Amino acid sequence: MMKLLDISKKYGDTTHKYPFEPYHVADNFRGKPAYIFDLCIGCAACGIACPSNAITVQLNAEQNKLIWEFDCGRCIFCGRCDEVCPTGAIRLSEEFELAVKFDKSALIQRGELEVQCCTECKKPFTAKRLVQYSFDCLSKANVSQNRLEEAKDYLRVCPTCKKNATVSNFTTGKEVVIE
Ligand code: SF4
Ligand code: SF4
Repeated sequence: MMKLLDISKKYGDTTHKYPFEPYHVADNFRGKPAYIFDLCIGCAACGIACPSNAITVQLNAEQNKLIWEFDCGRCIFCGRCDEVCPTGAIRLSEEFELAVKFDKSALIQRGELEVQCCTECKKPFTAKRLVQYSFDCLSKANVSQNRLEEAKDYLRVCPTCKKNATVSNFTTGKEVVIE
């Protein structure tokens, strides 16, 4: 008995008075992913990496928006989204009190990004911010001004039109210029 009391005295309190006092989580705790809309470029890397489909990034052609959506009810707090996000728009936080009352839609968070329309076919295909981000990355690289101007145009063409231009180039032997 005395030995137990000695041990208890030596180590002090090992329990917490939570929820009557705030609980401080351990370093590198994997809490709710926090989303910063202003940093999001709509690249969809998080949605592709997410193993539980808690994040989806979809084009809504009717609304002309790219919809980023996170369903906390599906999240397994693996941290893949945090690892792959190129801009730090999604980071695991220390938030762990995630219960909602009756309404599961309270677990869902959304971001709506403006879309870029293809300069050839005029259809929306990606987020404007992603085009700008790609251009900014190129601008920081050692690329000539002429090439940069070409890239600026090229980035605003959808993958289907790029593919069609390449196929046409191969079949006709003529270079199809994407303007
Ligand atoms: S922490 Fe994992 S499961 Fe949760 S949203 Fe990020 S990638 Fe998906
Ligand atoms: S910028 Fe980050 S949060 Fe936004 S879609 Fe890309 S990976 Fe996801």
